Amino acid sequence: MFENREAKFLLLGGMITIGVLYLLSRWYPSIAHIIFLIALFIFAFLLIILQIYYIIKLFKHDKLDQKKLMTPCPACDALIYKTDSTCPYCKTSIRSS
Ligand SMILES: [Zn+2]
Repeated sequence: MFENREAKFLLLGGMITIGVLYLLSRWYPSIAHIIFLIALFIFAFLLIILQIYYIIKLFKHDKLDQKKLMTPCPACDALIYKTDSTCPYCKTSIRSS
C-alpha cells in the first residue's frame, strides 16, 4: 500500500505534523489533551485519505488493464474483449487473432 511516492509524502507530512503537535504538547502541558485529540484526528484522517487514494489508484489501473484487453468491433465499433469470437452488441462473428 505504501509503494508509491505520493502516499509516502502524505505519510511523511502526517508524521511531521504529529511530531510538531507532540512537541507542542511538551511545551504546553495544559493543552496536551487537546493536542492529543487533534493528532489522533489527523492520523485517522490521513489513513482514510490514503485508503481512498489507494482505491482510486487501483481502480484506474484496473481500467487501463481492461482497455489493453479490449478492441473495437470491426462492424459496430463497440469495445469488445479481444478473446470474444462474437461481438456481444451486433452479433458479428470475429475471427480470433
Ligand atoms: Zn459489433
